[in-house]
Amino acid sequence: MKRIGLIGGMSWESTAVYYKHINEEVRRLMGDGLASSDLCLRSVNFSEIVAQQKAGRWDLAAETLIAVARELEQCGCAMVLICTNTMHILAEDIQAAIDIPLIHIAEVTGSAVKDAGMRRPLLMATRYTMEKPFYVDYLRTHFGLDPVIPDADDRTTVHDVIFEEICCGVISRASRERYVEIVGRAKQAGADCVIFGCTEVGLLVSPEDFDIPSFDSTLLHAEAAVRFSWKKNFQRRGKKAGLF
Ligand code: GLU
Repeated sequence: MKRIGLIGGMSWESTAVYYKHINEEVRRLMGDGLASSDLCLRSVNFSEIVAQQKAGRWDLAAETLIAVARELEQCGCAMVLICTNTMHILAEDIQAAIDIPLIHIAEVTGSAVKDAGMRRPLLMATRYTMEKPFYVDYLRTHFGLDPVIPDADDRTTVHDVIFEEICCGVISRASRERYVEIVGRAKQAGADCVIFGCTEVGLLVSPEDFDIPSFDSTLLHAEAAVRFSWKKNFQRRGKKAGLF
């Protein structure tokens, strides 16, 4: 089993899901209730990262995350995961600073959507992920998907619920209903599935809330790490192909 490196804390609410799901997968795959994953978790102070996001100081966030990725590499990790969709805005910079592969969350999520035969996923994510090109373009370019982005009011709702509630440990029924309504509108507009494109979204809603398929980036990303760690059924297409 190769060591998994997690860049976490963004927020810790969803990093906890990564930790649990990776270990559940290892237990299941090994058929041993006591089995657990060989991993290193390096968690940052999300409050500082959020301040940098708001100020548009992605360069400062990059300094922090690159330093953390290097620490994980020095700790013997065979791969690195950034446990947030949003901070994949820095994925290329981080990958360029280390020699181990970065498993890209849009790679594993887009691949799952495409493999399921879907084409028009609604992207439920932070404002950065929905509005900046880094994620949507990845889904378009690598998988030929045609992502559906919520309108301005719905983007504000999705974003604010993530930062003001879920990341702070608040799970509200009213917000869940608003998310369900947003998915309903997107379905009318032609969405054929939903991407939980923020690692906290799965803490608020679940696939049963919707009548179209959903893809939880957190769970898919965690499962990809386990496959990579085991080198089973996982094609490592490598840095050169720009996939990780
Ligand atoms: N965890 C969220 C995501 O997946 C948002 C936190 C962040 O801004 O990094 O995008």
